[in-house]
Amino acid sequence: MEKKFRKIGILTSGGDAPGMNAAIKSVTCAAINRGVEVVGILGGYSGLINDKIRPLTKNDVCDIEARGGTFLYSDRCDEFKYEEGMQKAIATCKRHNIDGIVAIGGDGTFRGATDLSIRGIPCIGVTGTIDNDITASDITVGYDTAMNTVMHIGDSLRDTCESHARCMVIEVMGRNAGYIAIETGLALNAIGVAVQEKEFDKEALFAKMTHARKNGRRSFTVVVAEGLGGAFSEGLTKEIEERTGIEARFVRPGHIVRGGIPTLADRNFASKCGFKAAELLLQGVSDVVVISRHDKITSMEIKYALILDRMYKGKLKDGDLDNFTDEQIAEMKAICKERAEYFDDMYEIVNGVGC
Ligand code: ADP
Repeated sequence: MEKKFRKIGILTSGGDAPGMNAAIKSVTCAAINRGVEVVGILGGYSGLINDKIRPLTKNDVCDIEARGGTFLYSDRCDEFKYEEGMQKAIATCKRHNIDGIVAIGGDGTFRGATDLSIRGIPCIGVTGTIDNDITASDITVGYDTAMNTVMHIGDSLRDTCESHARCMVIEVMGRNAGYIAIETGLALNAIGVAVQEKEFDKEALFAKMTHARKNGRRSFTVVVAEGLGGAFSEGLTKEIEERTGIEARFVRPGHIVRGGIPTLADRNFASKCGFKAAELLLQGVSDVVVISRHDKITSMEIKYALILDRMYKGKLKDGDLDNFTDEQIAEMKAICKERAEYFDDMYEIVNGVGC
């Protein structure tokens, strides 16, 4: 028999991302509009373990979509990864009569959501990460805002580069994924984009810069993904000066990129995902993550999404594919191929349209 939901909880966990608030708002209102009570769990899974629960009304969440960060706070919580911590979290759910949870975050957050789901607390995941590193979903909540923030920073840096005839090497966040770097590299007319997914040809960069300078170009932008490590970006900045004679500066915007007013794209994507998450949870669905594929908001089993992620990142372990059908595995491979092709195409475009 389908379980009747009376109260659901929402939490944000792992790295924060602009747009998380719009997701919180839309889950809250969608649930309340269906006669279901909503509570906020503060500070991710640690809030569940330490009983940091607050009721959420429509007034509490009204207009929060315009704010960056997460109004439910976020934290990392190692205790939750162990059975004892998990049982404390489940006891908190029971005490507060929380029938199900929407968990907004990245892959670590979804692992936690699966662990709760299989222990009888239905959970739905919503992507919240600037890195766009959830293979299952074409985009993630926070990614668009982060890219726009990098673009604005790069535009400002270009002004001063033009005045002083300099090169700016900008290292951007993205953990082990080069998506932010490659997209902003295109938007900023970068003369070089270095990402860990691709071999970077330094000699070609130096030659291009030298040639462009001879032809009168004053300012240059090079975008580097943080996955290559700080030493790479700083080293490259020095090498550019040594090899081209062009004055170069290194900038790491760091956490600035994580904050700020969410873009329309992020707010609305987050709102759509939140609505879908509430709908699924209240229908009795559990252990899935809400994703976007080919511009459609849909969902995927978390265990499938996590293995797909490992496949894309080349980190599959023995036995990972044992519980999937041939058809499912073929679909996973197709998704990985599509994603890799997108990245390859972007890389070719960035390198092909530079002037
Ligand atoms: P993100 O969700 O952005 O990937 P983390 O990897 O830090 O961020 O994960 C966020 C939180 O999710 C962790 O602090 C922990 O509480 C929980 N979590 C991560 N991995 C697991 C796991 N294997 N089992 C249960 N909970 C996990």
